[in-house]
Amino acid sequence: MTAAVRTRIAPSPTGFPHVGTAYIALFNLAFAKAHGGEFILRIEDTDQARSTAQSERMILDALRWVGLNWAEGPDVGGPHAPYRQSERREIYQAHAQQLLDAGHAFRCFCTPSELDAMRAEQMARGETPRYDGRWAHISREESDRLAAEGKPFVIRMRVPDEGVCRFHDMLRGEIEIPWAQVDMQVLLKTDGLPTYHLANVVDDHLMQITHVIRGEEWLSSAPKHQLLYQYFGWQMPVLCHMPLLRNPDKSKLSKRKNPTSITYYRDAGVLPEALLNYLARMGYSLPNEAEKFTLDELIATFDITRVSLGGPIFDVEKLTWLNGEWLRALTPEQLADKILNWANRSNNLTAIAQAIQPRINLLSDAVNWAGFYFQNLPSISAQDFDHKVLSTEQIIEVLQLAQWQLEALPKWTERNIQTVLTNLAGELDIKLRDMMAPFFVAIAGSKASTPVMNSMYLIGADMTLQRLRHAIEVLGGISKKQLKALEKRHQALGSLWQTKVN
Ligand code: GLU
Repeated sequence: MTAAVRTRIAPSPTGFPHVGTAYIALFNLAFAKAHGGEFILRIEDTDQARSTAQSERMILDALRWVGLNWAEGPDVGGPHAPYRQSERREIYQAHAQQLLDAGHAFRCFCTPSELDAMRAEQMARGETPRYDGRWAHISREESDRLAAEGKPFVIRMRVPDEGVCRFHDMLRGEIEIPWAQVDMQVLLKTDGLPTYHLANVVDDHLMQITHVIRGEEWLSSAPKHQLLYQYFGWQMPVLCHMPLLRNPDKSKLSKRKNPTSITYYRDAGVLPEALLNYLARMGYSLPNEAEKFTLDELIATFDITRVSLGGPIFDVEKLTWLNGEWLRALTPEQLADKILNWANRSNNLTAIAQAIQPRINLLSDAVNWAGFYFQNLPSISAQDFDHKVLSTEQIIEVLQLAQWQLEALPKWTERNIQTVLTNLAGELDIKLRDMMAPFFVAIAGSKASTPVMNSMYLIGADMTLQRLRHAIEVLGGISKKQLKALEKRHQALGSLWQTKVN
């Protein structure tokens, strides 16, 4: 008897909920459901420096909003709990130890500076940097002795020096990657935490995942994973690497060219059903070629081999068109309901009323004063930004630096927004009042509006960042050279939300 199909989405909570995560989750869910199986969610938060609880919450909320539900996960529990990797460290340590004892892995005592030097020498020789195996052959006694002395180490996996690794992919058939291209991957870090590779393989096995459907950026990891399954004596799940979503210019989908956050699309007024429908159309078509279909319709005829490998283009205009089709299919009553629910989606109406209260004399004035809270991107032109002290170049700089700083906020609060912007004005030696003028235009579409930091808070991080990006575009965009200089400047500033306001 073959095992029941189990698939998973395994997001790393290191940022906004990305449409690419929903796309991969959707194909995993459709595959599992089409085979009468289960779809589960696991949080891969072994990168302690970059993982945040806020990001995890946003990802879970966004996936649920879009209509993708999991049978097991950190929030709903399940027979393989815990589903958060940071709560499973002993499991990985025991498995790393097992590989060490079997001789499939070894301790590496290189210091970070030794590794840097190794890398630099290899690059100087024109080679691709990789671990040179310098600790791979010391005796176990020597290795145990150094570890007992307290010398810091990582655990690396052994990899064959020659030959080719062959594995099968559901969409791509047989794939061959020479072992010479595969590094002796670190499995357990100095701090005792696993890397993605160890944790991912151990968990997929223990959580009885039968099919791993993930983005093609993980294709080059497959040899390491296959080797780990062999070392442990486990059966490897079937692999399927999906094509990456692309910008209309065919480059990898990036927020510089397209909004990539699921919540941005929610806030702009895309229906979850339409977003799912659009994501399903990425490289996939129903046997009847229908454009508009539901998740259930997708599942009813789902066949993963229909995924085409040509890079699917995520085109906002196409998504907007499809959303319009969904809206037009509603009854007027349903549409009215959707509009009302959307307008008050985070119970923001009271806060918006409070913000416009000092400015309105008639209820009907609310239309003018509050319109921008509900808009997508405001219609603005470069002239709207004309400023008595700041040049266009300076305005672009301010908007870009603010965007990066705000993007890095661990929590979207009015207080944090204030701290960042006040500190930024201080660092740039611009009066806060002068610096804020372009923000009114970028966010509210007009120099006269409700307090703009409060507006940013109310419209949310995604919409704020997207409006700042849009403003920069309207002002003529940033050249590559300017961007480099600004990136340097940004590095030098550090994270301003952590600095005290003077
Ligand atoms: N944590 C990985 C990610 O963020 C999961 C990759 C996989 O599915 O194996 O994409």
